[in-house]
Amino acid sequence: MALGLDTVGRKLLWSVALPGLLAAMLGLGYFWREAQIAARDATHDEAMVLAEFVGTTFRLPTPEGLPPHHAVTELLQSDTRLLRSTAELNILAPDGRIRWSVSPREVSTLHPDAERLTAPGPQWARSDAHETEVLRSLGEKECEGCHAGAQETRVGMVHLRVAEPVVHRELTHALGAALVAVLVLGTMLIVATGTSLHFFLTRPLRRLAAAMRRAEEGDFLVRAEVRGADELSRLGAAFNAMLARLTSMKAEEIDTHRDLQVTKWKLSLKEELEERIAELALLFDVARSVNSTIELSELLARITQLVPERLHIPDFSIMLVNAEGLLEVKSTFPQHPELEGMTLQPGDGASGRAAELQRVVYVPDVRDPSSAFARNGLLPGHDSGAVLCIPMVHMESVLGVLNFRRPEVASFAPEELELLTAVADQAATAVKNAMLHAEAVKLTMTDPLTGVPNRRHLFARLELEVARAQRFGTPVSILMVDIDHFKKLNDAAGHRAGDETLRKVCDVLRARLRKVDTLARYGGEEFMLVLSNVSKHDAFDVAEKLRRSIMEAPQLAAPTQPGGHITVSIGVATMPIDSSTQDSLVDCADAALYASKRAGRNSVTSYAPGMELHPGRERGLSRPNDPSSPSSVAKA
Ligand code: GH3
Ligand code: MG
Ligand code: MG
Repeated sequence: MALGLDTVGRKLLWSVALPGLLAAMLGLGYFWREAQIAARDATHDEAMVLAEFVGTTFRLPTPEGLPPHHAVTELLQSDTRLLRSTAELNILAPDGRIRWSVSPREVSTLHPDAERLTAPGPQWARSDAHETEVLRSLGEKECEGCHAGAQETRVGMVHLRVAEPVVHRELTHALGAALVAVLVLGTMLIVATGTSLHFFLTRPLRRLAAAMRRAEEGDFLVRAEVRGADELSRLGAAFNAMLARLTSMKAEEIDTHRDLQVTKWKLSLKEELEERIAELALLFDVARSVNSTIELSELLARITQLVPERLHIPDFSIMLVNAEGLLEVKSTFPQHPELEGMTLQPGDGASGRAAELQRVVYVPDVRDPSSAFARNGLLPGHDSGAVLCIPMVHMESVLGVLNFRRPEVASFAPEELELLTAVADQAATAVKNAMLHAEAVKLTMTDPLTGVPNRRHLFARLELEVARAQRFGTPVSILMVDIDHFKKLNDAAGHRAGDETLRKVCDVLRARLRKVDTLARYGGEEFMLVLSNVSKHDAFDVAEKLRRSIMEAPQLAAPTQPGGHITVSIGVATMPIDSSTQDSLVDCADAALYASKRAGRNSVTSYAPGMELHPGRERGLSRPNDPSSPSSVAKA
């Protein structure tokens, strides 16, 4: 600040010094004015007295014959203070001529102000700041001796002018000295007061303020200086006490805060543990559920059911890598049967990319322009919200992809991604197990030479078809097919050629069948076909068609065989016409087959009651010219 009023001491100093200085100056001014008036009055009075003295002593004749101005001259020589400042002392004649003067040079000259001074009127006196002028008549009784008739006329005038009385100058000097004294004393007072204020007020206050500032900045260990028992010391002591209290409060706060932090940490730990336990429970449930079945279709159904139930994800689908290496939709939630079987190239869309990269692909907002790639290959209705695709990877090979979708944008939390990845890992293991199981089952149910179901599968299937036929009252027909003279082929061309022929026969038969029909290897060179919901008459037609197909298949030409070609004999039996049980139905077909053999081979025979009783139905016997051949025998 310009006046330096940044401390209480300076403010106090200025508030004392300024009014003091002003009062001193005002007092001096007043004293100066009063002294001026007094000096002027005193000068006036003294000038009047001098004029009176001159007026009364300036006379003729003097007693001892002295000059008229004798008394005045004596007075002038006495060196009084008043006379030293007398600028003019004249005795004027009535016409203004100077008759006597303290300045002898001017005697007999006309006074410059003669006109003013000789103007008629009473004697007068005039005073101002610089001089006092007195005009007094000299016409007293004492002058009558020299100036006859002086009482009628004015014989002379005493003219006195005192310029700047000595007392005035002395007063000025005294006042100047007083002013200097006031200034010096004032300065000393200011310095003394300032020093006192500095040591007793400003400095302790500054230290106290510094301590407060440090406390404000958080240093509660600082203490104010306490010396003596004045107010400032008491203030410092109070501040120290307050700080001590604050320090203990702060310590308590720190303790409380630490306790709070520990409690919070424990709580968060507890929450995290609870979350982890919930996740583990969920994973356990998923594991238990997916591991409780080995059937792939059932497994997929369970996973599809678990996701919305336990993970609260409203849209879900499973894709598996099919035999062609494409991602194929296997299961969806909500159920969309029309979508099942839909395929996607690896690399296409979010699912394809997840499969190709073998890592999680998360698309927080499918509609975001930067996620355009994800829209390719999305399931219908999945063109908004957040999509998460997690590959099911087993031993570094992708088995499929789990697709999760929520309609809300960015609705999958990072922790959820971890959990779902763990679910996908579980699912991958279960899917792999189910696939291995399916493969094992297939192996146990399939004839390794021809690739068609073996006898075990055949009977399982037949059991199913028989049960269905019995339940719904529909027919089920079976065809027993036996290659004619197969032994000859083996003997002539070798077993490898025999095996090859078995495969070729199988292929021809398979190519002519409906999807619902079952072709199985019954034994050696015998096959059985189960025709679901096919009447006896139609079954015979099918058998005949098959026989012809074999006979006409160019790949089955065989020079070793009679006729130079592979042929088959077929026996047909139908439920419920020929039999009401599975076992007897097979016996009926078997009997019909051997009826075909007996009829000369390369023929089809429908079962007729009594055939099974014919002797020579053992395998390997062929009685082509058996007289009991049924009328329904067809021959090539
Ligand atoms: P038929 O016309 O009466 O049926 O005469 P067949 O020679 O076909 O009948 P048979 O039952 O006497 O002979 C069947 C032969 O089929 C015996 C066996 O060597 C042969 N066979 C059975 N299984 C296989 C097989 O898996 N591979 C080969 N190469 N031959 C087989
Ligand atoms: Mg045979
Ligand atoms: Mg045979």
